[in-house]
Amino acid sequence: MAPTTDNNSTNEPETPEFEARIQATQRRLAAELQSSYDFIVCGSGSSGSVVARRLAESDDVSVLLLEAGGTDDLPSVRDAGQWLANVGTERDWGFQAAPNRLLNGRRLSLSAGKVLGGSSSINAMIWSRGHKNDWEYFAEEAGDPRWRYESVLGLYRRLEDWQGSPHYSGPDFGFPRGDARLDFTDLYAFPKPEDPRKSILVMNVHPSAVVTPPGPTTAEPFAPEALYELRINTNGDAVADIAYRVRFSAFDNGSQSTTLRRVEGVQAAGIGDGGQVIVASARVSTGRDARVTEAGEYRFFAGWRSDPFFFDVHGMLNNQQFTGDDFFADKNVCSIVLEVPNSVLGTNRVSLWARTLVGAVGGWVQVDRGALPAQAVFLVGTERDCVHDGRACGRRPLRFRLRTRSGAHGWVCTGRGKASGTDTAARRAVL
Ligand SMILES: Cc1cc2nc3c(=O)[nH]c(=O)nc-3n(C[C@H](O)[C@H](O)[C@H](O)COP(=O)(O)OP(=O)(O)OC[C@H]3O[C@@H](n4cnc5c(N)ncnc54)[C@H](O)[C@@H]3O)c2cc1C
Repeated sequence: MAPTTDNNSTNEPETPEFEARIQATQRRLAAELQSSYDFIVCGSGSSGSVVARRLAESDDVSVLLLEAGGTDDLPSVRDAGQWLANVGTERDWGFQAAPNRLLNGRRLSLSAGKVLGGSSSINAMIWSRGHKNDWEYFAEEAGDPRWRYESVLGLYRRLEDWQGSPHYSGPDFGFPRGDARLDFTDLYAFPKPEDPRKSILVMNVHPSAVVTPPGPTTAEPFAPEALYELRINTNGDAVADIAYRVRFSAFDNGSQSTTLRRVEGVQAAGIGDGGQVIVASARVSTGRDARVTEAGEYRFFAGWRSDPFFFDVHGMLNNQQFTGDDFFADKNVCSIVLEVPNSVLGTNRVSLWARTLVGAVGGWVQVDRGALPAQAVFLVGTERDCVHDGRACGRRPLRFRLRTRSGAHGWVCTGRGKASGTDTAARRAVL
């Protein structure tokens, strides 16, 4: 079978009602077994389920899916976090590899699911793409270029609704265009403590220190020639419906001022620095005191703050042999913080991402963007370029959700692996 590219998903929401309906149908069909079927699929694991489902899409054929294991309606299966509890139980075939002389004659355990859903019911749900060389090998063996990595990559991307932050935007862990002020570092969004009618959106840029060669970055907080933008999608189509745009004056005598604008609709989806002025000529905070500007229901801050996360940079650079040192413990970043009433974000779930742009001949050019934990540092070649240039791969905005097997969703907040939560208000406002 060759990889298929059409989209047969019904996208029916996995509600308890939907699940109950499926279970009732399964019980009925199992009670009415026929004496013959057009197709019998052996094993209800990851591949067997797909094969059976594809066959069953045709009204003309009857399909029997046989499974050696039992029910998957168990806490250890439905809660992905308990995956390890299944290993070595009756839901595990418990295969053992042949004794290996290179392992002192030991046998390695080869677990495999023996339960409805097969190994996908007991696995750790880690998302990983198959290695490029494996796909190339499959294509060669099958004599079918549709198995090639480049071909399958399109399918992976279609399945993925997540993309990471290109946090290390320049070569050698450098800054975009070598300018620390353009470097997007974190994005946070959360309900305002004590006032859930409001949300706080935070975009951090410009770390105060550079790693290679070590030293401070410029004291000028924000680049006057740059545009800093928070983008919000309110209707699930992955196109910005609202944008908050922030521009800064030149750094003069140690001070800088800023203007916050808001655009909606077509303007928000496009590129530009125009929009309705929400806050004009607010002072950037360069010292310990945080200057907060109030404008109607908005509150706004821009300036240096202490860096909010732990990051073992030297360990990361040392082949992930972590040192335990928090490189950024005594460093700062430049924060743009916006407190907004939830009412200005609409009533639907929203997605949020951020970007920095610089002026160029013919308009603005995006130089950094992100919403999620660092990813680009782990990518190479075209993959990395693709993440840096959102237009090139046509990916959707940054949104990450964790799915449990029961269909409930947990949400991971933006920023480098900072917080996670299932709070409803946070879900509305985050990602
Ligand atoms: C413990 C564990 C953790 C894993 N973690 C991850 C992970 O985090 N990320 C990831 O990508 N992959 C992970 N994997 C691997 C991944 O789950 C498997 O590669 C994948 O599910 C295999 O799919 P499959 O269809 O080939 O086989 P399976 O999903 O194993 O399906 C085979 C099915 O056939 C049934 N069967 C076998 N013989 C018969 C028979 N004679 N009659 C009827 N039924 C039969 C079995 O009971 C089983 O249900 C993990 C696997 C295990 C075991």
